[in-house]
Amino acid sequence: MRDLRVSVTDRCNFRCLYCLPETEEAANFYRTRFDAIKNPIPIKSTAIHREWKPKSELLTYEEITRVVRVAAGLGINKVRVTGGEPLLRQGIETLVGALTRIPGISDVAMTTNGALFQSKAVALRQAGLHRVSFSMDSLDRENFRKMTGRDGLDQVLSGLRLARELGFSPVKVNAVIIRGINDHEIPALAAFARTESLSLRFIEFMPLDSSRSWQKDLVVKGREILQMLHRDFDLAAIDSSANPSETARRWTFGEGGGEIGIIAPVSEPFCGHCNRLRLTADGKLRTCLFSHDEHDLKPFLRGGGTDQDLAETLADRVRHKEKGHRIGHADFKQPARSMSCIGG
Ligand code: SAM
Ligand code: SF4
Repeated sequence: MRDLRVSVTDRCNFRCLYCLPETEEAANFYRTRFDAIKNPIPIKSTAIHREWKPKSELLTYEEITRVVRVAAGLGINKVRVTGGEPLLRQGIETLVGALTRIPGISDVAMTTNGALFQSKAVALRQAGLHRVSFSMDSLDRENFRKMTGRDGLDQVLSGLRLARELGFSPVKVNAVIIRGINDHEIPALAAFARTESLSLRFIEFMPLDSSRSWQKDLVVKGREILQMLHRDFDLAAIDSSANPSETARRWTFGEGGGEIGIIAPVSEPFCGHCNRLRLTADGKLRTCLFSHDEHDLKPFLRGGGTDQDLAETLADRVRHKEKGHRIGHADFKQPARSMSCIGG
């Protein structure tokens, strides 16, 4: 295990339909065409409970820093700050700064929806953040609004351009592709990566949405995405054999900058190579996105546990890491918490 993903909040200012949909229409996007903006109907009930965790249950920055320090002592060298929306957490640059100073941590990154990035960019850069990934599933204002529940495309575009200007490197873009929703935008998203010299990752839709609307027919398989791209682009594969835990298969464009990657956890699982651990905002350790067991670290952190206790718990959980997710198998069960709670 080398990579720890730290969720700092379960709250979010977006309502992506594949993660935390806000309206009945958005939750049922696969059944009907809808216009969530003109006629929003609040969700009456969702399969996964959607109330925010009380702030007292969220780990403090000191507690998070302590877990990362102990994890670094066991071999973790990469940390990604995520959420929910990490930029909603007050003073997030303070945490970023503290994480970059932990001996053994060589890489601190952040995943954000980008809506608040412009106001935080300089502080984050000064705190030592080098890498940032933006989520942007559409280049079409209306489709972006439909997918995220917010009219935020311009803010995200300005945020990611600012990230480049400030020297964040690499600036990555994540796009979750859903059949019938944004698969027609795959070539345009790739062209955007080329002209803007960005790393764009196409991600398969995973069964981690709060409304449990996921169906396998909605997944555009990585293979299909690649076929589509080969029609329009002259792609050259990047050899990542030196880094077996890399989740994306990647390609550069024959001409121009940028690169694209495909992350296909549903159709081409990479569980055997996974080197990631997750810490949820409320202090639960997860060894897989699809874990059904979470291990609560708060009793150690708040009950006088020593660093040694914490290290033993981390090591023990890793020893029991799941062999793989069961998506596509008859016994597959979606985890109780959605991606926004787990930390993507
Ligand atoms: N709010 C931030 C953002 O959207 O970038 C960080 C948290 S979000 C949970 C992290 C990543 O998870 C995003 O890139 C998002 O697109 C991805 N994600 C969320 N739900 C997903 C799903 N059901 N399938 C695949 N990816 C998902
Ligand atoms: Fe929020 Fe990120 Fe989930 Fe979208 S994917 S709802 S931005 S946590």
